[in-house]
Amino acid sequence: MTQLNRRTVLLGGIAGVGTALAGAAVARAAAYPFTLGVASGEPTADGFVLWTRLAPSPLNADGLGGMSSANVTVEWQVATDQNFTQLAASGSTTAVQAWAHSVHVEVAGLQANREYWYRFRASGQISPVGRARTAPAAGTSPALKMLFASCSHYEAGYFTAYRRMAEEAPDLILHLGDYIYEGAAGSAVRTHVPSAEISSLANYRVRHALYKTDVDLQAAHGAAPWIPVWDDHEVENNYANLVRNDSSPAGDFTARRAAAYKAYYEHMPLRSAQLPASHNMQLYRRLRWGSLATFHLLDTRQYRDDQACGDGTKVCADADLASRTLTGAAQEAWLLDGLGQHLGTWDIIGQQVFFAQRLAAADGSRSMDSWDGYTASRGRIQAGWQARGNTSTVVLTGDVHQHWASNIMDNYTTQNQVIGTELVTTSITSGGDGSGAGTGLSSLNPHVKFNWNKRGYVRTVTTPTQMTVDFRALNQVTVRGSAATTVRSYVIQAGSPGLQTA
Ligand code: FE
Ligand code: CA
Repeated sequence: MTQLNRRTVLLGGIAGVGTALAGAAVARAAAYPFTLGVASGEPTADGFVLWTRLAPSPLNADGLGGMSSANVTVEWQVATDQNFTQLAASGSTTAVQAWAHSVHVEVAGLQANREYWYRFRASGQISPVGRARTAPAAGTSPALKMLFASCSHYEAGYFTAYRRMAEEAPDLILHLGDYIYEGAAGSAVRTHVPSAEISSLANYRVRHALYKTDVDLQAAHGAAPWIPVWDDHEVENNYANLVRNDSSPAGDFTARRAAAYKAYYEHMPLRSAQLPASHNMQLYRRLRWGSLATFHLLDTRQYRDDQACGDGTKVCADADLASRTLTGAAQEAWLLDGLGQHLGTWDIIGQQVFFAQRLAAADGSRSMDSWDGYTASRGRIQAGWQARGNTSTVVLTGDVHQHWASNIMDNYTTQNQVIGTELVTTSITSGGDGSGAGTGLSSLNPHVKFNWNKRGYVRTVTTPTQMTVDFRALNQVTVRGSAATTVRSYVIQAGSPGLQTA
């Protein structure tokens, strides 16, 4: 009954906005605050997070978005239809300057496995409408259409790939990091603001706001719930825990990381469980998609040992030291514990850097920033899922700005047994248009089956028996409007790891 009354009040209020604006109140109407769009994320069987941030002047250098220090009441509605004739939930929350007037509403009590629409109202203005979705209930396994993406460099091109993702109306979108880039303006296709490499909280807020003003990115957020995890560029290229990559800009790196993590939280549809504390933020987490799939989202930046022998691709015996970790001990134990729970048919590990072995030359040189620079860490996790009987493990990866597909081997030297599958998405824009067929396949890495150098994303449709995989690519990102086409498809059978030609 309370909900019904609330609905009547809210609908009446929203219907009355036009009248109010037509009258004397128009002179005092606030500037439109929803310039950064809306988003949903973190779906469970009974809810999700709704996000927006009030920012009538999103690129103001102080990072405050044109808002005063005043608290602002933000009303929200969730409906079962696009026209909001049937409200399923509604309420209000308070946006405060300490969190850049961002809003994170954790909606619960909804029906499992269905789509919803949501919107906000603040300062007499109504937001765009977003589409969200709940996960299916435990014990059920409806098919899942999921897209994943990474590496969206604003300057490298237009976000047409995000637009194409929105048009696919997926159930779920994973973002595997490099959602923003921290670098100074370089004027490739579009220009970064602030113009210098970002390092302060105000800087990170403005950079996030710049990205969020992109209409194609807004479309992707508005089309489906997201599950985001960061990589390095949300803070600084190739940083490792509290070890900075270089000394520029000068300043305390711990404070810089804290600023970057806070701004990331402020701009993502994350739960309060992810609230930053000091210079840390708990980002690794598990989400269930009914009994079909469990998503294990990793953070391979915050707890890692520094790159062995420094960054880059090189020969480095220290990369194989048993003591080295990419995840930290606690996250590794958490992952293996979760894999041992067998909560769903599929275990999908969403993470950042190339997982399978990828030798660059016969001398054994390999990327020190990827799992190849932390081979004991990789070995413990692989052996861990083998020991627990996980036979439908799929690792999802970003970071390297090209499409790749690999079989994960129990032993990369003997190539004895396929124990999992890795799908690496190309970038949204990073690297520019690209050349088409990749040049990365090598007899040094017989388990690596596919490489394609164009921008795009990966589409998966998962059922209890198989996962179909389509690598999607756009011809150009330096001009708008390219179509997305499928450049390679695979099938992965549940219980029988490895890539099969579709
Ligand atoms: Fe990247
Ligand atoms: Ca990266």
